[in-house]
Amino acid sequence: MDPRTDYLTDEGRQRLEAELHHLRTVRRVEIAERIREAKREGDVSENAGYEDAKHEQGFVEGRIAEIGRLEGATAGEVIDAQGLVAAPGLIDMHSHSDSTLPINPLAESKVRQGVTTEVIGMCGSSTAPISEAQRAEHLRSAGSAGAILGWAWSSFGEYLDRLRAKGLAVNVVPLAGQGTIRNKVMGHTAAAPTPDQVAAMQAEVAQAMDEGAWGISTGLIYPPGSYATTAEIVDLAKVAAPRGGFYFSHIRGEGPTLLAALAEAITIGQEAGLPVQVAHYKAYGKSN
Ligand SMILES: [Zn+2]
Repeated sequence: MDPRTDYLTDEGRQRLEAELHHLRTVRRVEIAERIREAKREGDVSENAGYEDAKHEQGFVEGRIAEIGRLEGATAGEVIDAQGLVAAPGLIDMHSHSDSTLPINPLAESKVRQGVTTEVIGMCGSSTAPISEAQRAEHLRSAGSAGAILGWAWSSFGEYLDRLRAKGLAVNVVPLAGQGTIRNKVMGHTAAAPTPDQVAAMQAEVAQAMDEGAWGISTGLIYPPGSYATTAEIVDLAKVAAPRGGFYFSHIRGEGPTLLAALAEAITIGQEAGLPVQVAHYKAYGKSN
């Protein structure tokens, strides 16, 4: 079964395939016809037929090489973007597509909004690394969706292999979730970790980083992230830092404790020596 469409009914799958085929082919056909038309009229310059363009962009090996009126330039492929706006792909800095990308790697809901890169594993919650107990819990709680996903990986690298297996329509920046790692090592407890447990969590961070994680994330407003002290997070961040890791945090408060929560994120970045990205940075409503 093709995992990209196995969540759809037969009718839904047919409609999706027809629509995607249309999207993939229609622009290419239009471009080919414009070029053919220009050549028939005896004008074989690559700019023929595009006099109204405000700007043209020349690409070399996927990168913008020149912008302006590219008079007389030649190109292997010409794309007619008249009436359209050229924009860089958007980065979704706070995505929770961790468990949907393996099922639907086309990610149409993001791609059609212009998103080309997703940062996943946010808020302390990643799909890997997981223990057998976590796998059983995910399979139980996610019901039929969990069964489709399978959760047939343990390590971070195995999860990334699952993402790579069919290819993805978007780029992915995967993070290892501190909450996921804490649960794997300690179970769902509010207790402070023993030195051995700190070492075990650090080993999990190191392995995830070595297998492809871009950093770690925390979700400090809900358990088990809320059980972790600043020092506990610094201990993990210190392992990510020398491996070029980032620290992404759903900070510990948005109301009266907003500034303290922001200060904590900055402290972790300073003490561990790594860049910090803050999420859920907002001061909500009036105090009651
Ligand atoms: Zn969050």
